[in-house]
Amino acid sequence: MTLETDYLIIGSGAMGMAFADTLLDESDAHITFVDRHAKPGGHWNDAYSFVALHQPSAYYGVNSSELGSPRIDTHGPNAGFYEQASGPEINAYFDKLMQQKFLPSGRVSYHPMSDYLGEGQVQSILSGTPTHIEVRKKTVDTTFGGITVPATHTRGFTVAEGVRCVIPNALPQLWMPGAGRQAPQNFCVLGAGKTAMDAVVWLLRNGAQADSIQWVVPRDSWLQNRLHTQPGMAFFNDSIGGEAEKMAAFAESKTMDEVFLKLEVLGQMLRIDPTHTPTMFHYATMSTGELELLRSVTRVIRMGRVQSIAQDALVLEKGRVEMAPDTLYVDCTACAVPPRKPQPVFQKDRIVVQVLRMPLVTLSAAITAYVEVHGSDDASKNQLCTPVPFPENLAGYARATLLSTMNQFQWSQDKPLRQWMRQSRLDAFGRLVSEIDKEDAQKQATLVRLRNNTMTAMAHMGALMA
Ligand SMILES: Cc1cc2nc3c(=O)[nH]c(=O)nc-3n(C[C@H](O)[C@H](O)[C@H](O)COP(=O)(O)OP(=O)(O)OC[C@H]3O[C@@H](n4cnc5c(N)ncnc54)[C@H](O)[C@@H]3O)c2cc1C
Repeated sequence: MTLETDYLIIGSGAMGMAFADTLLDESDAHITFVDRHAKPGGHWNDAYSFVALHQPSAYYGVNSSELGSPRIDTHGPNAGFYEQASGPEINAYFDKLMQQKFLPSGRVSYHPMSDYLGEGQVQSILSGTPTHIEVRKKTVDTTFGGITVPATHTRGFTVAEGVRCVIPNALPQLWMPGAGRQAPQNFCVLGAGKTAMDAVVWLLRNGAQADSIQWVVPRDSWLQNRLHTQPGMAFFNDSIGGEAEKMAAFAESKTMDEVFLKLEVLGQMLRIDPTHTPTMFHYATMSTGELELLRSVTRVIRMGRVQSIAQDALVLEKGRVEMAPDTLYVDCTACAVPPRKPQPVFQKDRIVVQVLRMPLVTLSAAITAYVEVHGSDDASKNQLCTPVPFPENLAGYARATLLSTMNQFQWSQDKPLRQWMRQSRLDAFGRLVSEIDKEDAQKQATLVRLRNNTMTAMAHMGALMA
């Protein structure tokens, strides 16, 4: 069978959905989605049930549709901050969007449970039936991120027979009577990323004692304080004022370690153990409430990555640790965002959607669609859309900030795009800045400080990246 479409979008994850939403609103194009998953939302479909956004729902998702409600949490470790959608809420949001906006528009075809094989070839996973898609305009690849989560990654270590090693998805099922086995009394969380942090917080909030948890931390990481990611005027000093201070830290530091230490003093960056200097920053965002919970776990194993789990011991890069035989290991070692070399976004009849303002993934996809519709040739479109690589080390944060700021500057020079962004729910901070009262001297002074500090910081980024 052969079908026709204007844009063939590979992947109906957050990026594909955000791209399509803006393309539908800004053009009369026909879109065809192909995705291996049975529902839109990409990796959120495979996540553990207690996953949630790191950031407020207020500026995640697609441009045309609010995610959740603009309420502030009153209890739990996120108290005082805007709500963060849970994984199931995100899945329902994207599904509703597909069922209630995209498909009823008459301009969208959707092929779930289908593999894209290249060259317009699509194959149903369940029946093997091939379909050829004739693309009138462009193929849009939203799979560049290559996200891996515990349910879809391949373990990099071996596990001895009889050892219980689960992914975090299994934790909420521990109450179920399982083949005569008792609920575990000892836990060992493997990995130091956001998933591992979520697993530790989940265990503690669900009754596990802190001293029943061991935690394998191959590398320490800096964490962004969620206070500084809040939208709305009430948080202006923390968000926009914080950005001005961050730029000053970049401008005034000689090394990236110094940048992070300054940001820690300012309360913008957090670390779980103040006696260890983190070597990575992956934009994981935490509240100080969550940090306190994480700090209560003191049985931390810093001996590199796990190589194998024997019946009574963990074998790590730097040695062996004896373990209680009934330990439940929680595998949180999926890397989430693997390192990738960026490529041009606009490549003739192909668009490779990538992050343009770190870490705002869906804003980046929506802007790419806007530029596709309203831009002229590939060269000028690519000038507005320089891909920003995900940081692999601390210097990568300087690079990501530099490139994101340069994109931001390019967008501000394009009047229609600037105006579109001012209306966009995905650009919470741009909108906030545009709403500041001209007579508000204090806030205007903060904006001047932000502009000046940003200019000085940009000139200094090369040295920090080196
Ligand atoms: C636990 C976790 C929490 C996160 N929290 C946040 C957050 O708070 N804020 C934020 O901005 N970002 C967050 N992120 C980053 C997150 O990756 C993005 O928000 C976003 O969901 C990524 O979407 P995507 O479309 O790029 O990728 P994916 O979700 O991976 O979607 C890609 C889709 O492409 C499909 N696909 C791939 N290859 C093929 C093929 N050959 N044929 C058919 N289909 C194919 C896949 O099935 C998948 O559905 C988080 C990530 C993780 C892992």
